[in-house]
Amino acid sequence: MTMQAEPAEAQAASGSNRMIWADAIHKSYGRNDVLKGIDLEVAAGEVVCLIGPSGSGKSTFLRCMNHLETVDDGIMWVAGRVVGYEMKGDRLREQSYAQVCRSRTKIGMVFQHFNLFPHMTVLENIMEAPTVALRQKKSVVRERAMRLLEQVGLAEKAQHYPRQLSGGQQQRVAIARALCMEPSLMLFDEPTSALDPELVGEVLKVMKDLARTGMTMVVVTHEMNFAREMADRVVFMDGGVIVEEGPAAELITNPRHPRTKEFLASVL
Ligand code: ADP
Ligand code: MG
Repeated sequence: MTMQAEPAEAQAASGSNRMIWADAIHKSYGRNDVLKGIDLEVAAGEVVCLIGPSGSGKSTFLRCMNHLETVDDGIMWVAGRVVGYEMKGDRLREQSYAQVCRSRTKIGMVFQHFNLFPHMTVLENIMEAPTVALRQKKSVVRERAMRLLEQVGLAEKAQHYPRQLSGGQQQRVAIARALCMEPSLMLFDEPTSALDPELVGEVLKVMKDLARTGMTMVVVTHEMNFAREMADRVVFMDGGVIVEEGPAAELITNPRHPRTKEFLASVL
């Protein structure tokens, strides 16, 4: 059980260059065992693509990383913090809501549906969390927001509302919004799945540029070309376990496990 995890070992993990260290993560919804013991390490600066069939637990795992779900068993450190718990002396105790919120500010998340605030302009969307949650100075945040809009190629849309933008543009705003919190880790959950095919490329380009800056990224995606080109590692999940993982080129071109082969045949 999580509470009995070795604090010394956990502490060592948080001090290394590991951005994520998940050890035997279990998660159930009622009697549905969704995560059945997931081990994963992601180093700072790594880009990892998480692939697998629908229902295999990819989103649940990402949500656990971002403190949006509680973990039933196992222990996970993300961006220097243990998920769900805090160190109290040499013991772990459950995190307060305020602590969970603080941990979350280090992690940016981008969803399939962009979830922009419809009544706010693009600039207001991007400035909201840093000014409200982190209470940073507006002038400082505005400057950073404009620089990020530049980075995602949407500087001229700052005063537009989300409904005036295409899906691809909205998703690029969502990425800029996440980055404005200056996270040390970015999680993407099928960021291009809801887009018309002709809009996928512009979002992938922004993600590629971001990967090249050295950002640590975990990307759930079916875009195998992106995985092949950008991922340091590809992790294949099925039925709540990691079936196989390896360097992108190797896993995609030469999968060993029959389930990986079958899945890749269905998406390539
Ligand atoms: P994936 O992202 O790989 O498609 P998910 O993590 O979304 O998989 O879902 C894995 C399983 O967990 C599915 O069986 C799904 O029905 C179930 N599940 C996900 N979220 C919830 C929830 N909030 N409540 C109950 N069951 C859930
Ligand atoms: Mg999902």
